[in-house]
Amino acid sequence: MAALGPWLCPPFTDAETWRRFTEKVVRTSGCWIWIGAVSDGYGMFHNAANQLLGRKSPTVRVSRFLWEAYNGQMHATRVVLHECDTPLCVRYEPGAQHLTVDTQSANLQMAAARDRITNGSRLGRADLRGQHQQSLAIRAAMLAAVAEGITDPDRLAEVLAAVIAKGDPFAAQLPLF
Ligand SMILES: [Zn+2]
Repeated sequence: MAALGPWLCPPFTDAETWRRFTEKVVRTSGCWIWIGAVSDGYGMFHNAANQLLGRKSPTVRVSRFLWEAYNGQMHATRVVLHECDTPLCVRYEPGAQHLTVDTQSANLQMAAARDRITNGSRLGRADLRGQHQQSLAIRAAMLAAVAEGITDPDRLAEVLAAVIAKGDPFAAQLPLF
């Protein structure tokens, strides 16, 4: 598997849109990371076809674009969940535990169950940097790795794990030696 470059175009998008999307993705051996525009911690993709679906904005979250590229239009009450807890991840494949689709209430239940929601004085396991800063840090690390010429998916996965670990509240509590 190549870390960069397009993979097979799914049925509910066109080749040019798919090429634009895939050139903004770095595929590690774990998560596949979006390196394009980020808003509120989530990857955003400009897709003109979105307006044909009756939506006001041509810009959509990358996870939704991806799911719909494979499956057709998603019902408005459904959300794409990141089982891997990495909002920039766009790894959507049969059997891969990264992106799934469910309702918003299920999304919140999953976040609470995993201690991801910060609540009053209880920090839980949410990234110390906050979602948006974590995503920016991940994107920057992936761009830097690619600029260094790293293309091995396992090496890229190590770079990703290292940048995620920097915001882990438990890692920050470890003694220095
Ligand atoms: Zn993932």
